[in-house]
Amino acid sequence: MFGDAIQREIMRFRSPKSVVNICFIVVFIFSTVLTWREAVVLEGAYVANQRNSLDSVATLLDRQLQYNIDNLLFYRNTMHYALQSPISTDRTRKSLAEFDHVRSQSFWQFRLDLSRSLPINGVSDEFVNSSPLLERDEEAIHTELSSALELSYIMRLSGSARMLPQRLFYVSRSGFFLSSNPPANDSKIVSLFYSFIAQPYFSSQSPQNNPSRALRWTHTVNPNSTSGEIITATIPLDFNGRWYGILAFDYPIDSLHEFLQEAQYDDHEGTVLLYDKEFNPIATSAEHLPEYSLFTAPQLAQIAGAAAEAKPGGQGELRMDSRFITWAKLNSFDGLLVKVHTLEEGVHGEFGRISIVFSVLWLLFTFMLFVSWMVIRRLVNNMFNLQQTLTWRANYDTLTRLYNRGAFFEIAHKLSQECQQQAQPFCVIQMDLDFFKSINDRFGHNSGDKVLAHAAAMLSDAFRDGDVAGRVGGEEFCIVLPDTTLEEAVKVAERIRVRINTKELLIKKGNTTRISASFGVSSTSESNDYDFERLQSCADHRLYKAKQGGRNQVCSHD
Ligand code: GH3
Ligand code: MG
Ligand code: MG
Repeated sequence: MFGDAIQREIMRFRSPKSVVNICFIVVFIFSTVLTWREAVVLEGAYVANQRNSLDSVATLLDRQLQYNIDNLLFYRNTMHYALQSPISTDRTRKSLAEFDHVRSQSFWQFRLDLSRSLPINGVSDEFVNSSPLLERDEEAIHTELSSALELSYIMRLSGSARMLPQRLFYVSRSGFFLSSNPPANDSKIVSLFYSFIAQPYFSSQSPQNNPSRALRWTHTVNPNSTSGEIITATIPLDFNGRWYGILAFDYPIDSLHEFLQEAQYDDHEGTVLLYDKEFNPIATSAEHLPEYSLFTAPQLAQIAGAAAEAKPGGQGELRMDSRFITWAKLNSFDGLLVKVHTLEEGVHGEFGRISIVFSVLWLLFTFMLFVSWMVIRRLVNNMFNLQQTLTWRANYDTLTRLYNRGAFFEIAHKLSQECQQQAQPFCVIQMDLDFFKSINDRFGHNSGDKVLAHAAAMLSDAFRDGDVAGRVGGEEFCIVLPDTTLEEAVKVAERIRVRINTKELLIKKGNTTRISASFGVSSTSESNDYDFERLQSCADHRLYKAKQGGRNQVCSHD
């Protein structure tokens, strides 16, 4: 049983249709897997490309910011050295005397050398006294001023080596400042100094507000700047436990815009945005900052969360809606560079074009595969059906759908031998329709054929499972009954006879007739002879006797 089931499965699997299906499915799966693999490689290359392009912008920006931060630290060291051992020359002494002379004026300005130093710009004692943040310490002021005069030389020199347009400045709590962009005229000194100390970056560098004394970035609106917004890096200057002031540089936001715009070389490259530490966009490679936030609050939180875990200089990428987001944490600025690459930009870009070509090729291949599958399947199907028909016709009689003479004799031989081996009785029934010639004569050959088909159907309905019937002559049929006694075989023959004879047949419009058949039955139980030809001949002989005896009867003896 189990073996049969397996064999059936194998045959089913081996059927040509299944083989064609399996072949095409395998080709389809392989082509899809290969295309998918290519897509994965392409995606990896796309991600690397996005990262590299942002990394180059981040590195360039970092380098420029770091250059200025290094400068600030250098200026602070210079001030420390100068405060520790102030120089005293005729020129400095002259300048300090000048300070003592002008310190009560609402604004003042002096410099050591007109062409090689920056001017020191100050406000009055009264201004200093009016602000709680400021303090003109009588002991420290001269030392600080002579140190600032030294710094004014150095700042002037290094100012020319700047990379991004920016302003460098020192703002003293003693009521003066040095700036790489000195005020255009004296009357601007007070307002400029006031704007310096009014900005949050000044007060945020007090020992209370910045206990770690680290560098700080602030993003502010500067009323004195043409562009409006600036970002400022500040470090405090402390010496001997006293907070002297701040050293700072700032960039107008416009210059960062320009920088990002220049760094972006292709329209389809996406948009790079610089976010400050509060996640406000401050500069973009696009023409303007977006009117509405590019991200929803949860999306921003997602980017912030990913960036929070990264070290400075770290990078990452995220997929949001149809956009590909790459971010880079800067080393020298506590903000984030974010690159947004939309699907549309991606499609127009190099990778998009390659992906489209890939997809079209895959679709074309799959379509051709599908068409050839249909054609080959149909061909194979037709051939299979033809083969089945030919095989069936070789074994069956097309009119009665019973085994033909050749196939029937082969099967009957095999069955008789099996019964002999298993010592089982084996019977043969020979059947012939009565007066069939007269049916042909009365109603025509076609009606005769119909009667033949009807008799064969009656026959098939009446015998049992395991019995086999065949058409052995014109209107002669033979049935073999394995493992059946003569009595049982006679009963089967009788049953067939009754069935055939009972029904009135409508042969032609308005013409009905009743047919009958005669039967001869033989069995191995009589002579223990299992030779099929002899058994059939015996049954045929008895059939002749039945005809002789008046037809429409079963004869089972000589
Ligand atoms: P009985 O057997 O009762 O002696 O009379 P019968 O008329 O049946 O006699 P017989 O066996 O001699 O005649 C058989 C007839 O069957 C002869 C032939 O015309 C007809 N026949 C044989 N094969 C076919 C067939 O395939 N189709 C049709 N329509 N007739 C067939
Ligand atoms: Mg006959
Ligand atoms: Mg006959």
